[in-house]
This record gives sequence, structure tokens and C-alpha cells, in this order.
Amino acid sequence: MTYQIKRVGVIGAGTMGAAIAALVAGTGIPVILLDVPPSSLTAEEEAKGLTLNHPQVRNRIVQQGFERMRKARPSNLYSERTAELITLGNTEDDFHRLAECDWIVEAIVEQIGPKQSLMARLEEVRKPHAIVTTNTSGIPIRIIAEGRSEAFRRHFFGSHFFNPPRYLRLLEIIPGDDADPAVVAAFRQFAEERLGKGVVICKDRPNFIGNRIFVYAGQVLINYALQHGYRVEEVDALTGPLIGRPNTASFRLLDQVGIDVMAYVAANLYDAIPDDESRDVYRQNDLTQKLVAAGKLGKKVGQGFYKEV
Ligand code: NAD
Repeated sequence: MTYQIKRVGVIGAGTMGAAIAALVAGTGIPVILLDVPPSSLTAEEEAKGLTLNHPQVRNRIVQQGFERMRKARPSNLYSERTAELITLGNTEDDFHRLAECDWIVEAIVEQIGPKQSLMARLEEVRKPHAIVTTNTSGIPIRIIAEGRSEAFRRHFFGSHFFNPPRYLRLLEIIPGDDADPAVVAAFRQFAEERLGKGVVICKDRPNFIGNRIFVYAGQVLINYALQHGYRVEEVDALTGPLIGRPNTASFRLLDQVGIDVMAYVAANLYDAIPDDESRDVYRQNDLTQKLVAAGKLGKKVGQGFYKEV
């Protein structure tokens, strides 16, 4: 089967969605990038007399995600011309536009309920043969596809990009039991040849391969630092440049991932492996909970383990 991916939909304009949109647009393919419309006004919007129905307000979240990605260093955008290939919209007014897409990738919050609801909506709107993938960090694909038709599940699988997707070459593809091997093979070819990815096909196990290792290491580190009273800067001094990782010291990396994202991934894994001997490592810890409650979510909000990220 030949698949022509000529238009792509990306849902969720956070750390990953906006950067995936940029990656795809960088290859010359037009992208529609959607996020939710806001549920409340900012003080500035109120002062201007805007309402929640104003077009400028409706697209505020997607616009902010896109701008954050545009300003990120290193940049995810190949050029400003690339940005023109990305159309911004929201999941209420513009969802129908996903019917134009040959591949739709979901990059929303790492929670089962919202991802399942989104798939139910996508089942209604996607055109026959359109591929739908999820960027989940570790929720099993069969769970996200629960309740969907056989036709949907044949065209659905995991496409787990690593952060930042422009620079990290690895792409995990996770076919559930029902994915059509010909569709997966066609997408793999697209990912390798057009997106320049190095693909690893993974089994549909919680956290797949990369995150089973990374999240374990991240959790062990936080727990160890807490237990022994190490400061964030001390841990990073020992796990960064000193051992040849100039840009990826441990807590800096967690700020880049997003502390809420890491917390969701760990919590999902904790629930998914009741009999695993490593399970306790993924229990929520005080430090992460405190930061999430205070809205200190890492690089995406400018503050996390570090004050300014
Ligand atoms: P994020 O918190 O930066 O962004 C999530 C975005 O999704 C937000 O803008 C939010 O408004 C939007 N959103 C939430 N519910 C939505 C809905 N129902 N419809 C549309 N938009 C919705 O998160 P992220 O870091 O970009 O992660 C997105 C996905 O990618 C998650 O599944 C995460 O586990 C996965 N992932 C994250 C990383 C990482 O390093 N951050 C790496 C690989 C995979």
C-alpha cells in the first residue's frame, strides 16, 4: 500500500506537539496544529473587554505553545518560512479540518481519559485510511484505542518522539495487536526517509523501551537526592559536564521534559505494573508533588527544579 502524507494534524501544542509540527513543516508538509480553547480569560483579555468567544482568545493556548516553541533555544524551527506551513487552531472550532489530514498525531496531556475521548472524536472525523498515532510516553496503545472500531485500530499506533524531536533521532513506533503491518511499514518508511528518524519498533508494554529506562533513572535520582539531602545543583554537577553530558544534567533534563509530564508518566507506570519489583520507585515523591502544585512545571513555564529554566 502506498501512503502519501501530504497534510498532517497535530493535537496538543505543548512541548512536544508544537515541536513535532515544526519538524514536519520543516520537510515541506503543511500542518494544522490544534490545542484546546481556554476556559477562562486572562486579566489582560478582560481589561480589553474580550469574551471567551473572541477568535483571539479561542486560539490563545495554541498561539502561546507555538510562540514558546519558536523562541526555544536550540530552535525547533528550520526557518521562519517553515512557520508559514503551520496553521493554528483550536479543538472546538477547527477539529473538522483534521478530515483533510493523512496523518494525525496526538500530543496532549499524558492521561488515559483525555486521550481516549480524543480518539473517539478522531474516529468520527478522520478520513478513511488516515493514520492516527499517539505520542504517549508510556500508556499502552491498546488502552488508548479501547472502544474504537477495527478500521480505526488498523490505522492506529504509537509514534513516540523524543524531546526535542528536531535533534533527537530516535522514534519508537508501537503497533498495538490490531495495527495493520502494511500501514505501520508505510509510516516507518515516511518517518525514516522524510523525517530522518531512526526507528525502533517496540512491544506494547508500559513505557515501551526508552522511558522504561529514563523514567526509572529519573525517579531513582529524585528519590536518592531527597533521601540523602543532595541539592539539585549538586546532583547536576555530578551528572552533567563532569561525566561528559554538558547539556543533559539530570534535573535540567527533567525541567526540559516537564515535571508534570514526568509525574504523570511515573504515576501511570506505577498503576500499570502492580506485580513488578521496581514499582515503588515510581511512587509520587514530595518534591515533585510540591512543584506541580505550585505550577513550577519546568522549562515550558520558565521555572521548575531551577528558578529560571
Ligand atoms: P505539555 O504539557 O507541554 O502540553 C500538552 C498540551 O496538550 C497543552 O498545551 C494542553 O493545553 C494540551 N491539551 C490537553 N488536553 C487537550 C485536549 N483534550 N485536546 C487538545 N489539547 C489538549 O505536554 P508535552 O510534554 O508536550 O507532552 C505531550 C505528550 O507527549 C504526552 O503524552 C507526553 O507524555 C508525551 N511526551 C512528552 C515528552 C517530553 O519530554 N515532554 C517526550 C515524549 C513524549
